[in-house]
Amino acid sequence: MERELRAIVGEEGIAAEPGWFLTDITGLSGKADAVVLPATAEEVARVVAWCYDHDVPVTPRGGGTGVAGGAVPLDGGIVLALDRLAAVRAFDPLLWRLHVEAGVKTAAVHSLARDSGLMFAPDPGAAEQSQIGGNIATNAAGPHAYKYGATGTWVTGLEAVVPPGELVSVGGPIRKDVAGYDLKSLLIGSEGTLGIVTAAWLRLLPAPEVTLPVAAFHPDTQSGCEAILRVVGSGIGATAIEFLDGETLACAGGSFDSAALPEGAGFLVIAEADGSAAEAARVQAELIEALGDGAESVHAPADRAGIEALWRWRGGLTFAVLARRGLALSEDIVVPLDRLEDAIDETAEIGRRHDVIGLSFGHAGDGNLHSTFLFSPESEDERARAWAACEELVDLAVRHGIGWTKRGWLERQWGPRAVELHRELKRVFDPKGLLNPGKKLARLRA
Ligand SMILES: Cc1cc2nc3c(=O)[nH]c(=O)nc-3n(C[C@H](O)[C@H](O)[C@H](O)COP(=O)(O)OP(=O)(O)OC[C@H]3O[C@@H](n4cnc5c(N)ncnc54)[C@H](O)[C@@H]3O)c2cc1C
Repeated sequence: MERELRAIVGEEGIAAEPGWFLTDITGLSGKADAVVLPATAEEVARVVAWCYDHDVPVTPRGGGTGVAGGAVPLDGGIVLALDRLAAVRAFDPLLWRLHVEAGVKTAAVHSLARDSGLMFAPDPGAAEQSQIGGNIATNAAGPHAYKYGATGTWVTGLEAVVPPGELVSVGGPIRKDVAGYDLKSLLIGSEGTLGIVTAAWLRLLPAPEVTLPVAAFHPDTQSGCEAILRVVGSGIGATAIEFLDGETLACAGGSFDSAALPEGAGFLVIAEADGSAAEAARVQAELIEALGDGAESVHAPADRAGIEALWRWRGGLTFAVLARRGLALSEDIVVPLDRLEDAIDETAEIGRRHDVIGLSFGHAGDGNLHSTFLFSPESEDERARAWAACEELVDLAVRHGIGWTKRGWLERQWGPRAVELHRELKRVFDPKGLLNPGKKLARLRA
């Protein structure tokens, strides 16, 4: 297999040390017969064609930061990593658009836009490592999705390789496209199960002049959730509304600016205003008023260093939480905003029932919780209890995304016909079921 694939991608296109390519940030690991790193979209097409001819499964891979194990090869075959497709094909700052290959890092997209006074709005964590292709494949969101939407909102066109190995383009550098079915949106969020994204046209925005966050420490979940509903209900134009419950604060509070962290805080809401200096200041004042009611203290850094420190701290939460017991099982769940308080309380309660720490933090504005159960790697018993807690959690929420770690739970949310439509779509794109088998939906082979 390696010899024939090497004939397509050359010596450099076969990873000499597969190690990291067989696992990802979840710690799950799989096996593959080869790790292939094509350098061009045409090479991706030829590799997929070869795999289709030989019934070899293909696991597409970006930066390996997905939290559902999507990039881990479960069925052998090849890992097809997009790292070498890292060219910026075109950048038109005056038209607010960018054409990049899939392997370009998310942080590179951000900095390219920023250098021209523009902004690429989606801001999932792990941007230094994740790739734009991976962000598209997972339709990644992030704190600012509350105002700006998830990655898919900013994709106007895609180039992708679909079985049995053909390069297709859908959409393009256009701002409106209603011809035909919306194949672009089908590929977005499909986790590499329908096609392999090789390049994307992205829409940018002029960067706001100023961004001003507000961090409000509340005594408990009820008071914090009431404050969140006040912000939403009064129509304040926040760009982001994030939350941390009391247990999360217990994990991460130690690294927060100690002068700003009040004793006994049980819940934190972080919101942000952006726009021109005057507009951002007006919205920030409204946020301080709405979030400050019932709060123990409000921290509103106005200098660049303070603002960056706050968001850097927020960005490191996952690792602070992990450090508490060593490992964690985390589910990305979404609830209607008026049920946020219940979902946070219920996560903690489920944890208590299974005798593990249950906590949540996440994107309050989107009703999106990272409900998390902690366990020690040294305790098989604690791990089993954390799994049991996770299982119980699924019933309380509408699913946010079905990765390998979550497959089999789809049927609990949708009716049989909706599941059947998903399976039929998979069959149309990938009749042999070779693209990222076992992911997104339960295993499906023609
Ligand atoms: C600290 C941290 C914070 C995060 N915060 C957020 C957040 O706020 N919001 C959010 O939505 N997500 C968040 N994530 C998860 C986020 O979805 C991923 O980090 C990112 O989008 C995945 O990109 P990746 O390049 O690492 O993809 P990978 O992990 O390599 O792959 C993810 C999936 O996409 C597929 N894939 C990858 N590249 C391609 C391609 N070119 N074509 C087709 N399929 C492909 C893979 O097969 C896999 O199924 C976070 C993750 C971490 C570790």
